[in-house]
Amino acid sequence: MNDVIVVGGGASGLCAAIAAKKAGASDVVVLEKNTEFGKKLLATGNGRCNFTNLRIEKDCYHSDDIDRVMQVISTFDQAEVLDFMCSVGLGIEYKNGWCYPRSMSAYSVQQAILSHARKVGVSLKGGKEVRDIKKNGDIFQVLVDGYTYESKKVILACGGYADPKSGSTGEGFYILKRAGVHIKKPLPALVPLVIKDNPLQKAAGVRVNAKVSLMLNDREVESDTGNLQITEYGISGIPVFQISSDAVRALDEGKSVNVKIDFFPDYPLNAVKSLLEQCVTEASQNLDPSDPDKLLLMGIFPDKLAEVFSDMASPDDLTIGDVDAYTIAYFVDKIINDLVLEVSGHKGFENAQTTSGGVTFDELNDDLSLKKVPGLYICGEEVDADGLCGGYNLQWAFSSGHLAGKSAAEA
Ligand SMILES: Cc1cc2nc3c(=O)[nH]c(=O)nc-3n(C[C@H](O)[C@H](O)[C@H](O)COP(=O)(O)OP(=O)(O)OC[C@H]3O[C@@H](n4cnc5c(N)ncnc54)[C@H](O)[C@@H]3O)c2cc1C
Repeated sequence: MNDVIVVGGGASGLCAAIAAKKAGASDVVVLEKNTEFGKKLLATGNGRCNFTNLRIEKDCYHSDDIDRVMQVISTFDQAEVLDFMCSVGLGIEYKNGWCYPRSMSAYSVQQAILSHARKVGVSLKGGKEVRDIKKNGDIFQVLVDGYTYESKKVILACGGYADPKSGSTGEGFYILKRAGVHIKKPLPALVPLVIKDNPLQKAAGVRVNAKVSLMLNDREVESDTGNLQITEYGISGIPVFQISSDAVRALDEGKSVNVKIDFFPDYPLNAVKSLLEQCVTEASQNLDPSDPDKLLLMGIFPDKLAEVFSDMASPDDLTIGDVDAYTIAYFVDKIINDLVLEVSGHKGFENAQTTSGGVTFDELNDDLSLKKVPGLYICGEEVDADGLCGGYNLQWAFSSGHLAGKSAAEA
């Protein structure tokens, strides 16, 4: 009989197991379906693991109950995560408040956490896929193929559906649904968006600094500025990820979803107009009139994007000599005002970094145990909390895992 069984050996499960052991639980076992623990950690931050952020506020998360999210985070906040990382031998590198290991290696984070878990006495059992959890009196029976583990407390840390090849395939949700727990529809978040009849398609591969605003039913609701990646199907990159949670849920609710792209995020509108007019007018006077009209924009935009904009202004194959003052004004107007694109979909859980939705807080006590199943705790991506890019999802995994583990040990 174990004191605590943790199902899922990702960021939140490992943190929960360590916290449970440190809080006095005698036998703590982590059952992980992969043979490797913390597999997803290796992919985080492009292999560099952005594990928290110095700025953590309500606007960094989505949930139906942000106050509860912040309450959980306050029990093991960013300062405590930084202390923990230092305590397992990692130096810290800060980039605009985003926190990484000094090694810039997610592998170093994964290995340090695993080694610490073993040091404090957590038992790590890989290759154990949990199929169901049953309760017999006060004892939980955790069913793995051909074997039943028993324990006094169970912590479900199976993750959501994001990046299923890492092992997160939503099994925790199936187990919880069978127990009658309400799950807010899980949807992909931090995910690229698909644009209807993508007018930027020919510029696939271009990366530019831009402001991306989410428009729901023609009203701007949020925006982010950063490195926009134009793709065959649509748009990607951090400013797209930051608005994607709300965009995907709005699409799922059948709302009209558009994005507005501003390729001059640091300039006031008048300055953009004069810059464009000046460059295009100079180029039209001083370049070879027989050259294609896209050259008028190539001093301002990457080559492929200049071509897209000149096609948008006029689908005909114009030359510089064909372009008059009226066309220049038209170009400028199109570039400034016409970049509202219709979002028709997203790239799914396979390309998402996290899951929005999950177990709602009204199903959970303050210690993250389920109201309907005393002794069963939930943490990480399975809970209705998803963060922005910037270390917020790992912070949530660590905070909620720590609270669930400590609570399970002390209850
Ligand atoms: C490409 C990528 C980059 C990311 N970069 C960052 C970043 O830089 N910063 C950041 O904060 N966040 C980042 N994230 C998000 C972050 O990694 C996750 O939010 C976090 O790992 C979630 O932790 P978790 O423990 O809830 O779930 P997971 O890490 O998904 O762990 C769940 C574990 O449970 C196991 N499991 C599932 N079902 C069962 C079962 N039935 N039995 C046994 N085991 C099971 C899975 O195999 C998995 O190991 C990134 C995500 C991805 C995909």
